[in-house]
Amino acid sequence: MNQPKRIDGRRIADDQVNQVAHRVRALTDADKRPPGLAVVMVGDNPASDVYVRNKIRRCEQAGILSVEHRLSEQTTETDLLGLLGDLNQDEQIDGILVQLPLPKHLDEGRILKQISPAKDVDGFHPVNVGLLGIGDKRALVPCTPAGCVILAKEELGDLTGKHVVVVGRSNIVGKPAAQLFLAEDCSVTIVHSRSSNGAELARQADILVVAVGRPQMVDASWVKPGAVVIDVGINRISTEEGTRLVGDVDFDQVAPIAAAITPVPGGVGPMTIAGLLNNTLTAYEAREQD
Ligand code: NDP
Repeated sequence: MNQPKRIDGRRIADDQVNQVAHRVRALTDADKRPPGLAVVMVGDNPASDVYVRNKIRRCEQAGILSVEHRLSEQTTETDLLGLLGDLNQDEQIDGILVQLPLPKHLDEGRILKQISPAKDVDGFHPVNVGLLGIGDKRALVPCTPAGCVILAKEELGDLTGKHVVVVGRSNIVGKPAAQLFLAEDCSVTIVHSRSSNGAELARQADILVVAVGRPQMVDASWVKPGAVVIDVGINRISTEEGTRLVGDVDFDQVAPIAAAITPVPGGVGPMTIAGLLNNTLTAYEAREQD
């Protein structure tokens, strides 16, 4: 069996960040202000803390101004909505990101809707969801699924006519991934927990995108030989040596039959932050044109 190709998300994300950095440098060389991103984190969540620090580090690398707002676990919804209202008005800020999950007493849906759609760099606001749904290029699109499309294109080039099966239908990954591949002229099938024949449908995929949050659920019986497999899952499992991260795909089983596969870590994960920087620059450019 041939060695499967690992899709190097770290390298591709680095390229994306370098491209953003190049465009930001052109702006600042022309005496324009840099794009600005506000990152709001409520409470102490060690995993969120790592994500936020990485996002801020990558912003710095790309020359994007980042402003961090760390609020206490007890922050009220009124205070958080007030801060978002201020950031919506702030001329230096082009993108606003509220790190999820939020503490239980805060209504996530209401809070995300408070972010101006023009600054919604996570692409979760119903306006952006709707724009994506009607194929309007002005949509700010969710970063992780946008990263999946970039990885697939790096591997295959033009995606026209490919059959994509997306396993998972969350609002954050599965549904927007399906929309984005549709916009690339793919045929798209969505598999979810109530699908009666998930593995059978998945075996028809030229490109299999898996976002279920179940460690190593997708084994070789789900994969057509020669398919490109994009594993979105990030799961921490216990091993005899401690813990380690695995995806939703059983890499050791699937890699020998796939044409190419994303590893976990080092596949889709790094693309999410690259997408955030891309969206911040896109939001900046749209605001500057208005
Ligand atoms: P959700 O829990 O929101 O959604 C999981 C989806 O998987 C649901 O649509 C569910 O179906 C479906 N599902 C569950 N079990 C099965 C099954 N047996 N067969 C088919 N479908 C199934 O998860 P997310 O979409 O938010 O995240 C998915 C994974 O991606 C997680 O591991 C998460 O950590 C990771 N992730 C990684 C990111 C990155 O940066 N790389 C970013 C975001 C997420 P149903 O709707 O019927 O319940």
